[in-house]
Amino acid sequence: MEPSSTQPLPITKLRAALKGSFALTPDSEGYEASLHRWSEAAEKRAAVVVQARSAEDVSTALLFAQEHGLEVAVLGGGHSTSGSSSTEGGLLIDLTKMRQVTVNPSAKTIKAQGGAIWEDVDLAAAQYGLATVGGTVNHTGVGGLTLGGGYGWLSGKYGPTIDNLVEAEIVLADGQIMTTSEKENPDLFWAIRGAGQSFGVATSFTFRGYEQKNPVWGGLLAFDTSALDKVVDFANELVETTKGQSAMVVGIGAPAPTHEVRLLTVLFYDGNEEEARAYYDALFKLGPVVDRTSETTYKQVNSMLNGVSTHGDRKTQKGSAFTVPLPPALAQTLVQDYAKFINEVPDAKKTIILMEYFSQKMVTKVAQTAMSFANRGSHYNILFSTRWTGAQNDAICREWTRNMGRKVTNELTKTKNNEGVGEYGNYDGVSSSSAQDIFGVNYERVLELKKMYDPKNIFAKGAGKFSF
Ligand SMILES: Cc1cc2nc3c(=O)[nH]c(=O)nc-3n(C[C@H](O)[C@H](O)[C@H](O)COP(=O)(O)OP(=O)(O)OC[C@H]3O[C@@H](n4cnc5c(N)ncnc54)[C@H](O)[C@@H]3O)c2cc1C
Repeated sequence: MEPSSTQPLPITKLRAALKGSFALTPDSEGYEASLHRWSEAAEKRAAVVVQARSAEDVSTALLFAQEHGLEVAVLGGGHSTSGSSSTEGGLLIDLTKMRQVTVNPSAKTIKAQGGAIWEDVDLAAAQYGLATVGGTVNHTGVGGLTLGGGYGWLSGKYGPTIDNLVEAEIVLADGQIMTTSEKENPDLFWAIRGAGQSFGVATSFTFRGYEQKNPVWGGLLAFDTSALDKVVDFANELVETTKGQSAMVVGIGAPAPTHEVRLLTVLFYDGNEEEARAYYDALFKLGPVVDRTSETTYKQVNSMLNGVSTHGDRKTQKGSAFTVPLPPALAQTLVQDYAKFINEVPDAKKTIILMEYFSQKMVTKVAQTAMSFANRGSHYNILFSTRWTGAQNDAICREWTRNMGRKVTNELTKTKNNEGVGEYGNYDGVSSSSAQDIFGVNYERVLELKKMYDPKNIFAKGAGKFSF
């Protein structure tokens, strides 16, 4: 949407209406920084940025945008690769100054402002010996991850992030500030747990916290690709037998300095090093070529993937799902496709494929229709995370990513029972899936509520596009 008028925007009026928040235009200090995203390819130039400090100012910004016909984008942690937290010529609500986290140790709840990142939550909760289900890369935003579902190392014990959300504060398109929980405005609470990015601006989230014992253990074990079948066998068994204390990611990548294709497994164990090494003994016996595992604390463990998830460069992502046991032939094909791709497009050698072996037992304990999120099933996320530097490679990298997602989805439809949509909305960084694709059996109800809470589709950029 372009500004409705060619008249300059009345920024002075906006600034006067804001109570403590800043309105930034291209000539303001801080404007350029507010455009930065995890992927440079997702950066766009807003006409005005409201660097919000309160729900009231978010409300003011939303009403101003609508009065002047401006597209709205909301920035949390900035990790979406689809550009959903950026706008060309519209109004950006930047929540990055709203990162406060408060913990209530007696109620065991953790309240995070809408612009917090997971590191903020992990550090604040750890002061009270608590943790909740956050992302595995601690610089991702609490906002985008939670509103789309949320998986982490503790999902095997406590399910996805949304199953641990007890309350949120949401600013709706009409400017109303609403508290929502199972008891208060429950239909909005149903909607935001999965489709939240399409319903409003979340200015706070309250999560259930759990006692988190330390130490925990984790890190990277890299293998030659000849170990593929054995590594996949191990992961297949882990996910069927774990009691929630363990989880692993099987990655395919080509790390520096040699950029040879490797299996990059990232392991997690909720216990000490001795227990963890005994548990993962069969993997150690395969002879990893790199061992970067160690005993650590829970507040540190979500930084162990940061090294392969740095900011910068151009990126896209696409998710799909697989069932276990993952057929060895499919795993071999993924390695071959990956090797061929980075050989043909050497600029994309930092691309990784990640298969998340996180137990779904707790995820599937909750009914598919309990909230808008519709990806509960005995299938596991796979993510194609493509990274390159030259804009001339945008099309080829995006096409490969989309095609790989489609290829795995075609396999999935052969094996999957009729549970869950088989795609995590937050992994659709190419925006190729519709709201029906992402919300499956819940689509009709999500749409009905969307029309009620956001009839003009002001929040039009979230995972699973709505069109009405
Ligand atoms: C390196 C990396 C690691 C990841 N790891 C995990 C993981 O372990 N588990 C997992 O489940 N997912 C993971 N993801 C996916 C992640 O959940 C999505 O990328 C998510 O959208 C990121 O949210 P964000 O706030 O950082 O991004 P943004 O780009 O800021 O936001 C993404 C979307 O959410 C909206 N949004 C953000 N905050 C708010 C808010 N407060 N109110 C309303 N709308 C908001 C934005 O408008 C946008 O539409 C990962 C992604 C990356 C890139």
